[in-house]
Amino acid sequence: MALKYNPQEIEKRWQKKWAADHIYEVTENNSRPKFYALTMFPYTSGDLHIGHWYAMAPSDVYARFKRMQGYNVLHPMGFDAFGLPAENAAIKHKVHPYDWTMRNVEHMRQQLKSIGAIYDWNREVVSCLPEYYKWTQWFFLKFYHAGLAYRARAPVNWCPKCQTVLANEQVVGEGFCERCGSLVTKKDLEQWFFRITKYAEELLDFSHINWPERIKTMQKNWIGKSEGAEISFKLEYEGIEPKEVKVFTTRPDTIFGVTYFLLTPEHPLVSQLTTPERKSEVERYVAWCRRQTEYERTAVGKEKTGVFLGSYVINRLSGEKVPIWITDYVLLSYGTGAVMGVPAHDERDFEFARKFNLPIKTVVAPPGWAGGELEEPYMGQGVMVDSGEFTGLASEQGYDAICDLLQRKGWGKSSITYRIRDWLISRQRYWGAPIPMVYCDKCGMVPVPEKDLPVLLPSDAEFKPTGESPLKHCQSFVNTTCPRCSGLARREVDTMDTFMCSNWYFLRYTSPKTDNAPFDAGNIRYWLPVDLYTGGAEHAVMHLLYARFFSKAIRDIGLVDFDEPFTGLFNQGTIIYLGDKMSKSKGNVIAPDEYVAELGADAVRAYLMFIGPWELGGEWSDSGIVGISRWLNRVWGLVETNYASQAVEPKAEKELLHFTHKTIKKAGEDLERFHFNTMLASLMEFTNYLSRVKEAGNISTALWQEAITYLLLLLSPTAPHLAEELWAKIGRPYSIHNQPWPEWDEELAKEEEITLAIQINGKLRDRMLVPVSITEAEAKELTLVRDRVKAYTEGKRVDRIIYVPGRVMNIVVK
Ligand SMILES: [Zn+2]
Ligand SMILES: [Zn+2]
Repeated sequence: MALKYNPQEIEKRWQKKWAADHIYEVTENNSRPKFYALTMFPYTSGDLHIGHWYAMAPSDVYARFKRMQGYNVLHPMGFDAFGLPAENAAIKHKVHPYDWTMRNVEHMRQQLKSIGAIYDWNREVVSCLPEYYKWTQWFFLKFYHAGLAYRARAPVNWCPKCQTVLANEQVVGEGFCERCGSLVTKKDLEQWFFRITKYAEELLDFSHINWPERIKTMQKNWIGKSEGAEISFKLEYEGIEPKEVKVFTTRPDTIFGVTYFLLTPEHPLVSQLTTPERKSEVERYVAWCRRQTEYERTAVGKEKTGVFLGSYVINRLSGEKVPIWITDYVLLSYGTGAVMGVPAHDERDFEFARKFNLPIKTVVAPPGWAGGELEEPYMGQGVMVDSGEFTGLASEQGYDAICDLLQRKGWGKSSITYRIRDWLISRQRYWGAPIPMVYCDKCGMVPVPEKDLPVLLPSDAEFKPTGESPLKHCQSFVNTTCPRCSGLARREVDTMDTFMCSNWYFLRYTSPKTDNAPFDAGNIRYWLPVDLYTGGAEHAVMHLLYARFFSKAIRDIGLVDFDEPFTGLFNQGTIIYLGDKMSKSKGNVIAPDEYVAELGADAVRAYLMFIGPWELGGEWSDSGIVGISRWLNRVWGLVETNYASQAVEPKAEKELLHFTHKTIKKAGEDLERFHFNTMLASLMEFTNYLSRVKEAGNISTALWQEAITYLLLLLSPTAPHLAEELWAKIGRPYSIHNQPWPEWDEELAKEEEITLAIQINGKLRDRMLVPVSITEAEAKELTLVRDRVKAYTEGKRVDRIIYVPGRVMNIVVK
């Protein structure tokens, strides 16, 4: 299409001038209220794709809007630069991960600049640079000294393709690696963990943050709090040391319904509790279980398997001897690795009892129950039956009474468990921040002193994955001296999960040049918490949960004084193309650079905002972006060519004022709610209206200029370059981006109403109150559904409708 203006030329020119004039540089010394608008920093994958633009352009529009509203807005940008994808890409391209990453940073920074956002580039952070990861390591040490980081041997998730362990949060779906999709296996390794479980309860409290329900629910489910009781069952075997074994149950009120007892095959008591005659069968079963993944073991609807050990525990409340079985669906990694089997009141226990012909004893009566074995498990509440001294109680009361008794007798207590496990942060890969610990034969584990940070990642290490940490083979790195005894010592060779790097980047933006601390405490007090965080919903139980934990942990260490890092959160949707999510393998990737070159960044920005509600995303279409570009060109034409006032009509002036103020109001309200698409629709309507006004020439020149001024101000967050250029053209002082957001006059914005006369075949039959701005189609539609009109038109054919705008609707029927 032929453009009226050259976006390439004006966009580059203004970007240069804005940078030269430092107009987007942000300082703390300001009397204005602060607003921290944070967008998730991109991973240094190499190229800014349309998904990045979709995250960044609308969030920049919002940040600009807040800025115009008078806030001191921090809207920074940086790069998430450590991690596996960069390392894998570097291996593939036979370059060093550092070179690969920094080249991408360079390229992506230029692409990000083409968006025309208000990023203050002085505040950029790059997480793989020593001046940054020095502090990532410093936080690790703080965690270590506060008892929040510990080393333990544990069965961990191992991705055979990525050749590293994964956090539980990185195992998705049916037990697959979140990154590469490989089936995850288990491996026993000495690893570093962060004690996120200490914060489980506080992480469930969302009362001080304004987040989407969906994300809160995902975090709640991931943390998985269950309230119940810990109950110990008695073990009476000569030569077996433990005299009891504990379970956790959410239904202590069903304790009298226990008909069997389950252990996980990995439970340390299994071999001791297996009788000689059951030994071979048990061993065969245990070996079989070990070959399965956790997902296979716990899959819903899978046929139950298990083996009787030949021994029993005693249910202390009923005094009954209960057979001990092992089964694969009880896991060591959750709870105690032991479960009481209550088949009448638990689905899986019911299936297990059916399969192995174990008794099913009802102890909470379902409504209308007439005795006899249940056909299906009953999980609801009811009256307790067959439960000793508790018989006859409502099960809710029985729950409390049984917990009291357990407590009194020392057989157990009320208890809460969480599904979340401690966060495993060791990675057996090269491209990450080294864990600042040293192992000395004499002193054991010794933390690197803060003054020796950063522990530099050696640039000469062989980094190809072997299943072992590559740093292990880098002698110059491994061999060091012990900070305590100065003897020979070895460095920790694992690196940190990159989610540790992204835990605090938004703190660093407040003072990226501070070199004696991770951040300036005063700046943190000024900027934090983040007022609005925008990004993809895929980070729900990883980054967004880890960052909350991190903030609470450093609060307790005394480094910050806020409880939540992100007060507001908004997740944008996804842009699809040709009916599908974009991916290189499908060949349906939109390269934003081409569109920027052809139609301009302003057109790409506006089109992405117009494509659909931001939280839902939408389908990219070339005709769609051309339509938006055409609109911007119409705006250009409207403003650039002179307006000639012919005969001023007071009514037309009144209408223009109304339309202008109505649009200011609508645009502001829509922006506040991230309704970018409807905001743009109202600006387009306004443009069309102004075109008609221009043609009619029936308002004063002064009023015309005022209307144009407002149009440009409303357009400026969306199309910052075009708005700036036209602002200059109409002779306004530079810069439009330092102007306040226009205010509307409620009186003028109010929809004025008029009475429309309705005639049928020329005779007045009805009157109707309608807004002045009603369109012909809307007016016709409203007229035809009126009862009085229907009375005259029913059974007749409407031949013609003649509409005199603002006055008469004449319906001709035959
Ligand atoms: Zn993997
Ligand atoms: Zn030592």
